[in-house]
Amino acid sequence: MAKLPKNPVENWEIPAVEALRATPDTRVADIQTKGTPGFVGDKALGERLLEERGARLSALQELLYANGRSGDTRSVLLVLQGMDTAGKGGMLRHVIGHVDPQGVDHASFGVPTAEEKRHDYLWRIRKALPRKGQLGVFDRSHYEDVLVVRVHNLVPPDVWEPRYEEINTFERELVESGTTIVKVAMFVSLDEQKARLAERLERPDKYWKFNPGDITERGFWPEYQKAYQAMLDRTSTEHAPWHVVPCDRKWYSRLAVTELLIDALENLDLDWPPADFDIEVEKARLAES
Ligand code: AMP
Ligand code: MG
Repeated sequence: MAKLPKNPVENWEIPAVEALRATPDTRVADIQTKGTPGFVGDKALGERLLEERGARLSALQELLYANGRSGDTRSVLLVLQGMDTAGKGGMLRHVIGHVDPQGVDHASFGVPTAEEKRHDYLWRIRKALPRKGQLGVFDRSHYEDVLVVRVHNLVPPDVWEPRYEEINTFERELVESGTTIVKVAMFVSLDEQKARLAERLERPDKYWKFNPGDITERGFWPEYQKAYQAMLDRTSTEHAPWHVVPCDRKWYSRLAVTELLIDALENLDLDWPPADFDIEVEKARLAES
């Protein structure tokens, strides 16, 4: 087994945030979904680092929460977007699972309900934004409205086309109001998806995850690739860049997203909020009580 280094970040020859950031040259069709960009190490090391870095993530999230309780209005929002079986659920369990649930504002977005359909597509998104001091997690997001909606012509092009710019504006306002957005596009190969769907059909503990529609969607793979390409090309902005995460190796994708969140939280430069009471007075009162 590889030795656990003192500073796990040394196992990244390029920090995750740099190795994964989408660029104008990113081609969805060329993504090496088995790749481990930036990371030097094997699965055993990756899994051990996930525990260690998960503890760091947890400590940083507690700082965010503590500051939120003391008046800081900032928050962090993780946006997970990916095809079925990419591992969005696993991110929740194995990455977000490291932090105190009371500091997490989680939302997942499926086919819009009757009520949601009566509103603008951003309505349900705005309602689910993280409160101050919270770590928000979106399992799917407003990007479905330029992905599945575009692929299946659920609305005409003149309706989905302007959404890219609307989303950029929406996210800019969100960032300006103090929310750091960490956008993660998760990619599995068509073969890996097939293997994961096969597992859902083999194992009774996985039947619940299986949806016959997921097989239908495989027939639209090229259209989805095109829609994901447009999403990266048009909504990877300075204020809210996309990160392209290869997901065929779950240990890698989970570690990578942990690093992205750690980076976002470290950039907030948080410290423990100072006491808003006189410590000595309170110690004396406690002693006398
Ligand atoms: P799951 O994440 O497996 O529970 O599946 C949720 C399903 O809801 C996926 O098939 C999504 O494509 C679909 N979905 C999410 N948002 C939308 C939307 N705005 N319009 C249509 N379908 C959506
Ligand atoms: Mg599903």
